[in-house]
Amino acid sequence: MRSSFLIVANRLPVDRTISADGTASWRRSPGGLVTAIAPVMQRRDGAWLGWHGAPGEELKPFEHDGMNLIPVPLSASEVELYYEGFSNATLWPLYHDVVATPIYSRVLWDAYRAVNERFARAAADIAAENAVVWVQDYQLQLVPSMLRALRPDLKIGFFLHIPFPPAELFWQLPWRREILEGLLGADLVGFQRPGGASNFIRLCRRQLGLQNQRQEISFGDRTVRAEAFPISVDFGELDNLVREPHILARAKEIRAELGEPEHVMLGVDRLDYTKGIGQRLKAFGELLADKTISPGEAVFVQIATPSRERVQEYRTLRDEIELRVGRINGTHGVLGVPPVNYFHQSYDRDELAALYCAADVMVVTPLRDGMNLVAKEYVACRHDLRGALVLSEFAGAADELKHAYLVNPWDVEGLKRQMVAAMRATPHELSRRMRSMRRRVATYDVDRWAGEFLAALER
Ligand code: UDP
Repeated sequence: MRSSFLIVANRLPVDRTISADGTASWRRSPGGLVTAIAPVMQRRDGAWLGWHGAPGEELKPFEHDGMNLIPVPLSASEVELYYEGFSNATLWPLYHDVVATPIYSRVLWDAYRAVNERFARAAADIAAENAVVWVQDYQLQLVPSMLRALRPDLKIGFFLHIPFPPAELFWQLPWRREILEGLLGADLVGFQRPGGASNFIRLCRRQLGLQNQRQEISFGDRTVRAEAFPISVDFGELDNLVREPHILARAKEIRAELGEPEHVMLGVDRLDYTKGIGQRLKAFGELLADKTISPGEAVFVQIATPSRERVQEYRTLRDEIELRVGRINGTHGVLGVPPVNYFHQSYDRDELAALYCAADVMVVTPLRDGMNLVAKEYVACRHDLRGALVLSEFAGAADELKHAYLVNPWDVEGLKRQMVAAMRATPHELSRRMRSMRRRVATYDVDRWAGEFLAALER
């Protein structure tokens, strides 16, 4: 059956779990994107096209949770070259201000192009006449133009979840023209921040010699719109969740397990070199070393979820972070009270919500981040109006959360100052800041994000 609304993403919104007796079943993956899009899918008889997560395996389309899922196969070598390679070792570092050195390899590029072609063909096969197709993220930037060539009748939207870099950096990419033209296959290209949209427009002018009227770029006989749509979280769901007794009880328990320190600082990130985990640990270590804070007065809980462990940069980063944690605890810890509680593990929604409630200072210090949902989740969880958010200016969320304690994570002194200011703020000051941030996240939640993107696409 053909679909009138199609999501095209690298991954399907489900993960396969194998139970103790060996039977496999699918579970909806956590994350705002699925939550926001699932209702639209149900209303419009939609389908979701993406890889199912098992290299080399071919699967038939299936239904889960009221969603039609169309698996796209990837071989083990494609996972290595297209996903771990071009997506995560070329585009990811390039688009995050080259905080790690991107690999430019023709072999990786060829795989990227071939996989994008497969996604485009699969989308062309399944889309109904005049369907709306919404392509997601940096792994699939060639899909809009490939799909348009196959199916000019479609309405095609594209949203980039990560930053779009300044022209001076994007310029490095040997395939810069192909990527720009790939994106220009869409009718609407969405970015997290207005700066991403203007970087893109500037590149279209300089690289391709195109003309624009504000957000609208003329490309052949079509007009392509480039605009910011900051993604968000499901505010209502989190706000309800943290009012439940079991979350409150767990939050209390966490503070007790940490030895009832005056302050709990928290970091929650994928273990990624863009997240500035080392910078924040350095600042915390120096605050202990110069005795601005004493061990026992504040503990730092750092969750660093395992991520992309087959990419070398990520393995090196893990060693560096763990060395730093060990140094701080070795130097400043006392028996039973390590200043840093570090976990290289992944947590579910309830445990994260309890951690957000237990932490009075949330420390989010990416060197570059498309949005950073963790920052918004923390805000959504603090209906008590307590809790301070230390937030990097280089996260997309900083455009909206202006009442956070904003920091430049490269500036260790500034970071230390803001961490201390956040820790020592009066209840009045905390509630003033938190109230304003909550108003923003409550109004611009993930539903609104999807709604505004689709409305603009269909306008
Ligand atoms: N997250 C999670 N379990 C963990 C750590 C993180 O479910 O142990 C979730 C977190 O709640 C957030 C997402 O992962 O929704 C991370 O999104 P973010 O935009 O902060 O960073 P990304 O990982 O997408 O770069």
